[in-house]
Amino acid sequence: MKIISNLNNSIELKVPLIIAGPCSIESFEVADITAKFLKNIGVEYMRGGIFKPRTSPYSFQGLRDKGIKILEYVKKEYSLKIVSEILDIRNIDKMIDVVDIIQIGSRNMYNYELLKEVGKSEKTILLKRGFCATIDEWLNSAEYIASSGNTDIILCERGIRTYENTTRNTLDLSCIPIIKDKTNLKVIVDPSHGTGIHSIIKPMSVASIGAGADGVIIETHPNPNESLSDSEQTVNFEDFKLIYKDILNIYKYMRNQ
Ligand code: PEP
Ligand code: MN
Repeated sequence: MKIISNLNNSIELKVPLIIAGPCSIESFEVADITAKFLKNIGVEYMRGGIFKPRTSPYSFQGLRDKGIKILEYVKKEYSLKIVSEILDIRNIDKMIDVVDIIQIGSRNMYNYELLKEVGKSEKTILLKRGFCATIDEWLNSAEYIASSGNTDIILCERGIRTYENTTRNTLDLSCIPIIKDKTNLKVIVDPSHGTGIHSIIKPMSVASIGAGADGVIIETHPNPNESLSDSEQTVNFEDFKLIYKDILNIYKYMRNQ
């Protein structure tokens, strides 16, 4: 790892990086209500996939091109920064202007051609860990991005596949101090995909920040039961507010020690 292990870009964030929003941008209304809520409580980054990598080809695949207009609207109307997954090299050009952070999903962590291509952009890249990837493989994927010139990379731990099946994945929080030791990259945690259970997002968010994470990405929706994807792991706005408060407090506590 020639580039990322020698980067010297460790600026301490004054506030944690908090990204929230629905799993997918499913309608104008849901995106609009969520954006308004996030803006009101001070969250700056809204997530929402428009190209969704679903396990079944028959599940909702995202609004695709139609979703771009909705992302453009919330970005402009609420001055929010947009985080959305680019699934395919063919979608880079049409998504590049609307996204502030390009998300590379777990399934694409090994898509080296895509990594090299997004590495040519100047946008921040959120690189999710492959669900069967070792830390070393994950860092090599970050190196692919860096090797194309872009070192503005944030790593995202989103759980790995183990024999435990009570949770959707096993959240590997030990990777945080290990990565911090090996690199200067920012690391955030996705407790939504990492656990698959909305009622444990709060303790796992607190634990993530306690383990040294720079932030979290959390799925929230005005009515999680009606969410078209990942409803079981999606928190409602009331719960999100409580989680958000705890994250800010623990982040402050950790940095003031
Ligand atoms: C997502 O965050 O929208 C997503 C699909 O997550 P992952 O790639 O980690 O499964
Ligand atoms: Mn999801």
